[in-house]
Amino acid sequence: MTAYPNMLAPLDLGFTTLKNRVLMGSMHTGLEETGDWNRVAEFYADRARGGVALMVTGGIGPNLEGSVLPGASMMTNDDEVAKHSIVTQRVHEAGGKIAMQILHAGRYAYGPKCVAPSPVKSPISPFPPSELDEEGIEKQISDIVNAAALAQKAGYDGVEIMGSEGYFINQFLVTHTNKREDRWGGSYENRMRLPIEIVRRTREAVGTDFIIIYRLSMIDLVPNGSTYDEVVELAKRVEEAGATIINTGIGWHEARIPTIATSVPRAAFAWVTKKLMGEVNIPVITSNRINTPEVAEEVLSTGCADMVSLARPMLADADFVNKAIAGQSAKIAPCIACNQACLDHTFGGKLTSCLVNPRACHETELVIEDTQSPKSVAIVGAGPAGLSTAMTAAQRGHDVTLFDRAAEVGGQLNMAKQVPGKEEFWGLVDWYRTMIEDLGVKVELNREVSAEDLTGFDEVVIATGVNPRDPEIPGQDRENVISYIDVLRDKAEVGKSVAVIGAGGIGFDVSEFLLEDGHSITTDLPAWMKEWGVADPAEHRSGLAPEGPQPAAPAREVTLLQRKKQAHGKGLGKTTGWIHRATLKMKDVNFVGGVNYERIDDDGLHISFGEERADPTVIAADTVVLCSGQVSERSLADALIERGITPHVIGGADLAAELDAKRAINQGTRLAATF
Ligand code: NAP
Ligand code: SF4
Repeated sequence: MTAYPNMLAPLDLGFTTLKNRVLMGSMHTGLEETGDWNRVAEFYADRARGGVALMVTGGIGPNLEGSVLPGASMMTNDDEVAKHSIVTQRVHEAGGKIAMQILHAGRYAYGPKCVAPSPVKSPISPFPPSELDEEGIEKQISDIVNAAALAQKAGYDGVEIMGSEGYFINQFLVTHTNKREDRWGGSYENRMRLPIEIVRRTREAVGTDFIIIYRLSMIDLVPNGSTYDEVVELAKRVEEAGATIINTGIGWHEARIPTIATSVPRAAFAWVTKKLMGEVNIPVITSNRINTPEVAEEVLSTGCADMVSLARPMLADADFVNKAIAGQSAKIAPCIACNQACLDHTFGGKLTSCLVNPRACHETELVIEDTQSPKSVAIVGAGPAGLSTAMTAAQRGHDVTLFDRAAEVGGQLNMAKQVPGKEEFWGLVDWYRTMIEDLGVKVELNREVSAEDLTGFDEVVIATGVNPRDPEIPGQDRENVISYIDVLRDKAEVGKSVAVIGAGGIGFDVSEFLLEDGHSITTDLPAWMKEWGVADPAEHRSGLAPEGPQPAAPAREVTLLQRKKQAHGKGLGKTTGWIHRATLKMKDVNFVGGVNYERIDDDGLHISFGEERADPTVIAADTVVLCSGQVSERSLADALIERGITPHVIGGADLAAELDAKRAINQGTRLAATF
């Protein structure tokens, strides 16, 4: 008897059956653009072997003007068909099903040739779009239909027509971007014409036995977006026009409300999809922040949808569904929704991967094979670098001992998990603990090892992490000056007014921690919706609360300081930095930059500005928290080298400046793959 009867139930589509209710949602990986179609095929085949019922590819452009970026993958001719056939064949051999997403970006296309219903520039692109004429619109429709027909020829099981997230089709639907007065604009009947025409003509072109998923924006989260009645009307008309399934889209890319970041509550938008249930007779998929079989089952069993879409969790663990079937949910590598190696890479022009699973999109290059010569491996430090090394080495058949002087595994992850909005880190530490126990890693906690203790091992890995950097501020030895470790790990007393020194990732984390009093809106959906101004779209157009964001009062008065003159938080994640900045702004944090730290005394923190040390000012803080970066902890590594043992030094112990879990896990996994 499975714990996930709804998630694992088949779904009969009439002409074909999906083996369960899990869809791998579309993600742009950048793999297609490498030109290595074997690699693309292996990425999808790996997930097909992992048991997912149906996958949707990353967005494929129907033509040049509609492609997200110059050079992005398109489906326009038989050469492309041949490349995509490699993928579909490999997926089918692996027992999977796959649909190609057709993505016309409209005014979001990053190039001067972009087109849209009206010449309204997007706030997230420098390129003003050209307004399409009747002939231009006809070309876009026929190019999309042609892409669908070519996808069918390439062996895909279906297509997903991307009608949400503020892309081309969405731009026709709302008056925010559609100012036309012809038959494609004005009344909703006219604005809806484009998606209906696309679905109708696609169905005509592909025949009956081919999946057409229509991704419909159910809550736009931008001013002048769709009303709920319009959403329902569109869903019905799309069904009538021949769609097989309706998938949920949440928020336009330009929306200033987070929709998938880790601070968004799990399944935060399932209630939006639920409203559509019963309005149409075709299956409906829900999406966003569903990352465990338990959450998926809850969403499905409470009637929110017929199917769930998981995208990033399929990067974190290709075997998500098979592990659920086997009752091994605790062994599923959790997607922590950090975006660090997936979306941040995509927007940084890098190949997608995953912080938790560095093999994602590197399946053909980072191969974890059983070892032919098992070795004894000592790893010192049970943070992300040490844990990933231990796990991979043990998976390969090595005899691994993991030491840490702390009483629990996790290292800095244990501090991250204390921060409101970073609850997913609990699951990550639990997963590592489960995996190393299961793999028979010998774990020696509360153990301070010396170089002598490590002499008998074949391989020694030093993952001892970092120590806080000493900012050398006169007066920092006062009792009211504490470090981020005192705050996050040791829960030190903190006054009502706080100066945080250092505005890196940890300065932001500590500020967020101090602004709340033990409460996290990430585990309180109504509070989260209120804080960000999300409303029921049936009551307020586009799902925007008329009163806007209503944050709860901050628990403390926080001043966040840095010596740099640039805007605070520049070094944070590309796709998440704005959320951290907005959160702190909503809580009235005082951002002060370009400072010199002069001293700390009874009056507070004394600062001045610029090289001339001008404008001396006192920040009257009860508590000063030092978040001034890190230095590598290498004393054990140095002692080993003195004894003639050359250890592998990884993670923060190797490079503190770039201390982060993504780099640490990648480095540990890759090292262990080579022993
Ligand atoms: P960091 O990002 O390197 O930031 C250190 C901060 O301390 C900077 O704001 C720096 O700004 C300041 N600083 C450096 N030397 C100083 C000195 N001598 N005196 C006073 N201030 C000094 O380090 P972190 O905040 O400790 O974070 C460490 C790593 O953890 C990051 O690299 C990141 O990868 C990861 N992390 C990321 C996040 C996230 O993205 N949300 C969250 C937590 C941790 P000035 O030099 O301008 O003063
Ligand atoms: Fe999830 Fe982070 Fe991995 Fe992206 S990088 S898939 S958000 S864990």
